[in-house]
Amino acid sequence: MLAKTEQDEALIAALRRDIAYCRICRDTPLKGEADCLPHEPRPVAVISGKARLLIAGQAPGLRVHESGLPFNDASGNRLRDWLNVSRETFYDADRFAIVPMGFCFPGYDANGSDLPPRLECAPRWRESVMQAMPQIELVLAIGQYAQAWHLGARRMKTMTETVQNWRSYLHVNQGVPVLALPHPSWRNSAWLKKNPWFEGELLPVLRQNVDRLLS
Ligand code: SF4
Repeated sequence: MLAKTEQDEALIAALRRDIAYCRICRDTPLKGEADCLPHEPRPVAVISGKARLLIAGQAPGLRVHESGLPFNDASGNRLRDWLNVSRETFYDADRFAIVPMGFCFPGYDANGSDLPPRLECAPRWRESVMQAMPQIELVLAIGQYAQAWHLGARRMKTMTETVQNWRSYLHVNQGVPVLALPHPSWRNSAWLKKNPWFEGELLPVLRQNVDRLLS
């Protein structure tokens, strides 16, 4: 009979395999054939049986789609700076789980911006992924889609209000604490300038918690 940790690892390995073979958005998209993913799906997620920190992002961009490495771009560099960790630590699956709201690159909209995470992904996979990682002690919910799922009705009307309200999600008495963050994309540089409390108040607490959970 398998020991509990071996069972957990076997469950995670099976989940990783099932996700790797997922073709829902190509073959049976929710909104019909016209909305099918215009390229071969390539799910990118780091599911871990040991990490205490979960980075809940949005969806891979083209560069991540091509490399298969999450946050392997300028946004990732900014995120690692926020967390105050090296690339080596960031990509250590025993330290960080990295699970976006949509596992595959969703393509571009008419203006050349990344489309939102595919609607199909979270309902199909997220509950199972979270159940497979009961050891997670802090969720870093990046952007509105991750905040909507991980905070539910506790989310405020706008992303800014939700991030401003970060203390109330971090200090909860039940469930996994959540730290709400904006997306580290260059598109949010103006937002960061306009909201200096993010770097002055939130980032030091983020770094303290990351240090604690990595030790
Ligand atoms: S985005 Fe999610 S649901 Fe869609 S094909 Fe990729 S893994 Fe499957």
